[in-house]
Amino acid sequence: MARRFIVDEENITKIGEDKIQIVGKEVKHIQVLRHNVGDIIVLNEYDCKIIGMKSHSIDLEILQNTKPIGIPNIEITLYIGMLKNDKMDFVVQKAVELGVKNIVPFFSKNVVVKLDEKSRIKRMDKLQTIANEACKQCGRTDTVKISSFENFKNIIKEQNKFDASIIAYENEKNYLRDTMSNIKRENISSISVIIGAEGGFDKDEVEKLLENNKTVCVSLGSRILRAETAVLNILSIIMYELD
Ligand code: SAM
Repeated sequence: MARRFIVDEENITKIGEDKIQIVGKEVKHIQVLRHNVGDIIVLNEYDCKIIGMKSHSIDLEILQNTKPIGIPNIEITLYIGMLKNDKMDFVVQKAVELGVKNIVPFFSKNVVVKLDEKSRIKRMDKLQTIANEACKQCGRTDTVKISSFENFKNIIKEQNKFDASIIAYENEKNYLRDTMSNIKRENISSISVIIGAEGGFDKDEVEKLLENNKTVCVSLGSRILRAETAVLNILSIIMYELD
């Protein structure tokens, strides 16, 4: 099977009918692996032939869409409160393996991590690299996008674009299993999952989210889970039920 490489859109330029040029980190990676003109590789979601190689760029001809593997039946967007240290790296890696399509880290009232603009960009780049590596490692042929860090107000507004939206809140009585039985009866194709950071959500944040009539609040049981555990728990259950 041809090797797979993932290049962000901003590092791809169209140079002709079905021809593109790539720059950036993966150029070095392709060269280190001793690929050369004529080799077939998979780039993002396409089978491509290398048609030109320079030190900082590679030209490719797009041959066809690559055969889709490991792509879930349901499109999940994970909203996760910004976590401390390398916990975010763990969450991104595991969420990609479990099949999410988009990850949106957010800042809400009880998030303690503070990042200036420069550190946000650096952090986002690192998380995108982790997501790309996890896609390759688990054999998914699609890509997972890490969105720029959002403020809580914006994520509230975005929820109406999903068929269903689930917020995990430890003070809720409604169980995920009941919500899943309702969701399974409907024909849904996109779902958003919202998990708080170490400090959790404020009651008024949860109330604001629930103003959207497609949003439901669920409990994951009587024990308070770490945010990372809550992510693994809820994604595993949703995938078991819907994928
Ligand atoms: N605010 C809480 C506290 O400090 O006691 C804990 C927040 S918890 C560490 C992080 C996030 O995981 C929560 O915001 C929630 O989204 C999710 N979570 C953890 N345990 C949960 C449970 N039993 N039911 C639903 N969600 C849970």
